[in-house]
Amino acid sequence: MDYSAVKKILSSKKNIVITTHKSPDGDALGSSLALFYALYSNHNVSIIVPNNYPDYLKWMPYSDKILIYEELQVQCDKLIIDSDVIFCLDFNKPYRVDAMSSIIVNNDSYKIMIDHHEEPDLFCDQMLSDCTISSTAELVYSFLHNLGFILNKNIATCLYVGLVTDTGSFKFPNVTGQTHIIVSELMKYNINHSLIHQNLYDTQSETRLKLLKICLSNLNVYRNFNTALIYLENKDLISLNYKKGDTEGFVNIPLGLKGINFSAFFIEFKDGVKISFRSKGLFDVNIFAKKHFNGGGHKNAAGGILLEYDMKSAILYFENIIMKKEI
Ligand code: 5GP
Ligand code: MN
Repeated sequence: MDYSAVKKILSSKKNIVITTHKSPDGDALGSSLALFYALYSNHNVSIIVPNNYPDYLKWMPYSDKILIYEELQVQCDKLIIDSDVIFCLDFNKPYRVDAMSSIIVNNDSYKIMIDHHEEPDLFCDQMLSDCTISSTAELVYSFLHNLGFILNKNIATCLYVGLVTDTGSFKFPNVTGQTHIIVSELMKYNINHSLIHQNLYDTQSETRLKLLKICLSNLNVYRNFNTALIYLENKDLISLNYKKGDTEGFVNIPLGLKGINFSAFFIEFKDGVKISFRSKGLFDVNIFAKKHFNGGGHKNAAGGILLEYDMKSAILYFENIIMKKEI
């Protein structure tokens, strides 16, 4: 990242689009909203996300103004085409923004990536990309700090959401002293960390708990392989009126079992089975997801997809892989 080049570009009023990955999570939205708050008094800034995001993130300041590409394609295309600068936050490959990937890649606006996923594609003019960092929010903090922006309560709240959600409430191995120093800086802006936690974690729907109940009754433990799997079939999603985000975090639950260091959560949609992986310790689920599940992510948190599979065949495929020790 050439900060003086970025500073020069941002020294005059620009049309700016901030975008992030499909099915945006707390880090994606927290980072986007924090950057929005830093830039909006001097620039025309829009946030465009590929699709809708879960209710537990909808309390965040300004979140109601976020544009959803799937729902407002014409308006979003115009904003992207007219933009001078596009920020690409929390994603490293264009396909992660789904239907808007080609318009973003092909538009000649100045592109700035801030991200922490491995092996980024080179489609941006500037990159702040470091896969050892806990969250994109942590990188956005450095970005704003290096450009001399003054933070405020809204920016600090949004960055805190990114940090707390992407670190599993500060428990993941990539949390460092610097992560906590940043939190300590954010606390100076009088953020209400207890309320943020409540808004994020204590607003669960009844549907979510009922889905969790089914998931727990669908627990497969492969003791010999230190592996556990939970799953939800499409019929359960339909009968309980599943909404995106209802199953956020479920994949972590089997990791709480003693002796289990690899967990998988399979969820069956009409067109295939979407999978989340988590691990503790050395086992690299990013490599595993890439090798066998058309996916990727990070060492201890990754995902993938088996298109055209039903649940039974997807689980069999998974079992074959772990039992052949192909992992
Ligand atoms: P989650 O399990 O929470 O959906 O995703 C965990 C991590 O894996 C995220 O960092 C996300 O970027 C990555 N990930 C999830 N699904 C996919 C996928 O289908 N492809 C790739 N490349 N990464 C994914
Ligand atoms: Mn992230």
